[in-house]
Amino acid sequence: MRFFKYITNFIAVFLNHQTIRNKNFIYYLFYYFSEGFLIFFHKFSFLLKFLQPAGRKYIGWPKLALLHPGIYCNRNCLYCYENSIEFNIEEQLSIDKYKIIIKNLKKLKVTQIQILGREPLLYDKLTKMLDILKKNNLDTVIYTNGLNADINMLKKLLPYKNKISFAWSLESEKVKNGKSNLKLSLANLLLFKKHNFDIKLFITATNVNYKFIPDLLKITYLKHNLIPVFTRYIPCGNKTIDSKFNLSSKQWYKILKVQKKIQKKEKIINIGKISAYIRGYGCSDYFDSIHISYNGKVSPCDYVMSKIIVGDLKTDNIFNIWEKYKKNIKKWNYLPDECKQCKENFYCHGGRKSHSYILFNTFYKIDPLCQNNKCPLSY
Ligand code: SF4
Ligand code: SF4
Repeated sequence: MRFFKYITNFIAVFLNHQTIRNKNFIYYLFYYFSEGFLIFFHKFSFLLKFLQPAGRKYIGWPKLALLHPGIYCNRNCLYCYENSIEFNIEEQLSIDKYKIIIKNLKKLKVTQIQILGREPLLYDKLTKMLDILKKNNLDTVIYTNGLNADINMLKKLLPYKNKISFAWSLESEKVKNGKSNLKLSLANLLLFKKHNFDIKLFITATNVNYKFIPDLLKITYLKHNLIPVFTRYIPCGNKTIDSKFNLSSKQWYKILKVQKKIQKKEKIINIGKISAYIRGYGCSDYFDSIHISYNGKVSPCDYVMSKIIVGDLKTDNIFNIWEKYKKNIKKWNYLPDECKQCKENFYCHGGRKSHSYILFNTFYKIDPLCQNNKCPLSY
């Protein structure tokens, strides 16, 4: 039994790493395995009715905990999901509280911690938090916009190099005007890369930066061999902001096509789709990811962090909160009526739940980004 748990744990960690990039035998092994897996289950989707409950049972514990400990950011993105939160510094969790929370997350079998919001490199207790994570032997991903990742930050983070990786986002609207944030963030990224930090590059594609995407690829991929993962702009619910940034499906699928071409050339496998088949939902939020806000409030997704709160770590422990979370999974992942006849529903399951919730205030409606029965995965 213990051996079986190790195996399922291994799969869980493996599924959390969305991409595999390796040009040797392992690459080909996974490539053919994943291709075969997807083709097979697309043809025999009824088999998933048996596989998915087993998948949920054996790898359905919280795999990811996403901590949002800070309250400051050096950017002011109009569409930031944190804009709806009213920050109060007095409510910020103490580092001693994090010590307990992280120890308990480990007991809950969380395999990876991600540090986000607002800008984690501005969080004044970051290295203390990294010490706790290191002590608990937890892999850590830091999400950053990179603006503060200068030489001093590099010196601070060097001792943690083997335990942390970065999800580095280049904000790119001003790519053409010389004094863009992009320049600074990219220079910092290259500095960290030179010191062998593990970095994945992300770019949020919006209607505003859409026409600069070829330029972005020239700067990142062609010049520095950095392969960006594009993520689709997610509506924030404010009509004026959304009408400015929303990408059409046509634009988004064009980007995905380019991304796929690059991934094929570079022999990168995106295994996010396989994990979606196994769990039966496209997104790990509302299923096995826990978001912890700066004040201890626990939510299933950062996009609704101020709206859907499962529990409060100031007054309850993570074990009780996880039990409450589990009771809600079915309700959150309701299959909308519009999707019942769709051939993709056994892994898309109505798309990303937060999209429906932000726009329609309910989980019972189809993801507004779905068009013509194409699963609206936004990465
Ligand atoms: S960089 Fe991130 S956290 Fe900061 S304002 Fe923009 S979206 Fe929000
Ligand atoms: S592809 Fe569209 S219609 Fe089909 S399940 Fe997903 S959201 Fe529903």
